[in-house]
Amino acid sequence: MVKQLFGLYGASGFGQEILYWLRLELQKRADPSRIVFIDDGASKVELEGLAVMPYEEFLRQPEGVKWATIAVADAGIRQRIDSKLQADGIEQYPIRGDYTFVRGAILSEGSVLSAFVDITSNVKVGRCFHANTYSYVGHDCVIGDYVTFAPRVSCNGNVHIHDHAYIGTGAIIKQGTPDKPLVIGQGAVVGMGAVVTKDVPPGATVVGNPAKPLVRR
Ligand code: UDP
Repeated sequence: MVKQLFGLYGASGFGQEILYWLRLELQKRADPSRIVFIDDGASKVELEGLAVMPYEEFLRQPEGVKWATIAVADAGIRQRIDSKLQADGIEQYPIRGDYTFVRGAILSEGSVLSAFVDITSNVKVGRCFHANTYSYVGHDCVIGDYVTFAPRVSCNGNVHIHDHAYIGTGAIIKQGTPDKPLVIGQGAVVGMGAVVTKDVPPGATVVGNPAKPLVRR
């Protein structure tokens, strides 16, 4: 088996969470490949027994085949890193936790799905989707690029979520219809535990049950 290099981009909280799944996968198939953390701002050189290095150093590593997985929650940073990886021809390695199902869904490059995630039928998902544990995506949903689901998001059927939206822990999104999908606009934030019953405008932050725009005093 060819020894490859897997770079987990982001030596922070989420990077450490998903390291487990990448390690497990390589162990299961007795793959001798090496995993490192890529981090441009880290002060440490080692984490969880792995080397931590800036991106330029990752590119200089001797392995002929290199993969990266972006493990940073911030959508803007994810997009920037994604563009850089594409420009350098580095493919992104998808992460799948145990008991995670992708059935009849089309996922674009860079998806990171933790354990117990269920993505159901006729779903389309954009680049670098992060879905944390126990999240659900119902039938006929369309999810844009760099969208993030915190743990336990319940996104029912016929919901359209635009680029860069962030859905907080335990949020519930009511189903739309084929004629009128429920739409969460670009860059919107849905607060933890929110129950979203109608469209969320681009850039808005909504909280509560039923979810309403957050008014800052
Ligand atoms: N980071 C990086 N390159 C960038 C932007 C961020 O290596 O261009 C790293 C940053 O140094 C930090 C990590 O990504 O270690 C993001 O960590 P944060 O705690 O903000 O995010 P989380 O792990 O919660 O997604």
